[in-house]
Amino acid sequence: MATTGENSRWQHLDKILQRNGPFCDDSFTSGNVEEILGRWKILVIGAGGLGCEILKNLALSGFKDIHVIDMDTIDVSNLNRQFLFRQEDIGKPKAEVAAAFVMKRVKGVKITPYYGAIQDKGENYYMQFNMVVCGLDSVEARRWINAILVDMVDMNNPESLKPLIDGGTEGFKGQSRVILPTISSCYECSLDMLTPPTAVPLCTLASIPRQPAHCIEWASILEWPRVMGEDKKLDTDNPEHIQWLYEQALERAKEFNITGVTYSMTQGVVKNIIPAIASTNAIIAASCCNEAFKIATNANPYLNNYMMYTGNDGVYTYTFEHERKPDCPVCGNQATTFEAKGDWTLQEFIDRLKEKPDVQIKRPTLSTQRKKLYYQGPPQLQEQTRPNLDKKLRELITSGEEVGITDPGLPFSLRLNVVFD
Ligand SMILES: [Zn+2]
Repeated sequence: MATTGENSRWQHLDKILQRNGPFCDDSFTSGNVEEILGRWKILVIGAGGLGCEILKNLALSGFKDIHVIDMDTIDVSNLNRQFLFRQEDIGKPKAEVAAAFVMKRVKGVKITPYYGAIQDKGENYYMQFNMVVCGLDSVEARRWINAILVDMVDMNNPESLKPLIDGGTEGFKGQSRVILPTISSCYECSLDMLTPPTAVPLCTLASIPRQPAHCIEWASILEWPRVMGEDKKLDTDNPEHIQWLYEQALERAKEFNITGVTYSMTQGVVKNIIPAIASTNAIIAASCCNEAFKIATNANPYLNNYMMYTGNDGVYTYTFEHERKPDCPVCGNQATTFEAKGDWTLQEFIDRLKEKPDVQIKRPTLSTQRKKLYYQGPPQLQEQTRPNLDKKLRELITSGEEVGITDPGLPFSLRLNVVFD
């Protein structure tokens, strides 16, 4: 088949690329798909629900040199939506199977898989790409890749700035965004937009449940320890445990005239499973790939910079420019101020930090210029610093002093000016 001109494989895309349009960027130069996209080397992170769609779309849009990273293997539960995988692929690495499938179906595209974690690779590896598209389901992985891409930017080398397109879905909701590291708002800048898991007050669970989920939470949080004793831990992978919770929840739901408690809902609530919806993935992946195409070709303005999509009640989308946070620990240049009470113990201070949606740390190590406050490891240092956990903040630091925080989940260290109020 001819590759250019009438009746060619790319004739429709070529129509967009061979002439100027009213919205074309000044840097637009006309050409055909093969010439223009042939120059791009693009990295896709994630080969799951979004990743399958993204790989397929990029290949069908004419990108020729694609790499994909995923650390997961294929599970039977993926097969209903991760359409590049078949029954016989169960147990195999997602990145490898996805790459082979798309290459077989779309002639002329080269997809290089890597089966492993993004953290296995360093700056040298990421530097080879022109753009990164993420279809991830983990906040931690997004924070990591965002931080490394911001860190890689060298003002004297325009090539070091890699546009990051990030897609995410949760049930019927999703978002896509374009991040130009150090120029536009980064992933870390928007961390406080994440909705914390909705905690239902214990009193609601204990006294007047209103929803089926309340009955299930009641069964797992209150009834399980009461009936089974503190020693028998609830194992959410054990079908007998789930069955027990289901029966308790059903009983309670009847008592309060609540309908809708099912076994699979019980499983979903206690394991905190948010259903993955294939069509939401398709919409968000399509949006991400359109942005990749526009960035690569300059044929149309790209998203500036955040599109949210809500499919729960009808369809709603909203696009806005998310602004950079001057005190963003990744792309900002100001230390963040954190208000604390001098009377808090170091442990209380750590607990407050963990609650902050824009910090999100799990096992922090803390120090100041002058001293080690608390170290998670190695064991000797942990032992040495553990007594500090019970000390009051004012015994350890002065108001306004900078505290550096590292966490195994973070590729950067957080600097907080801790001010006593
Ligand atoms: Zn930022």
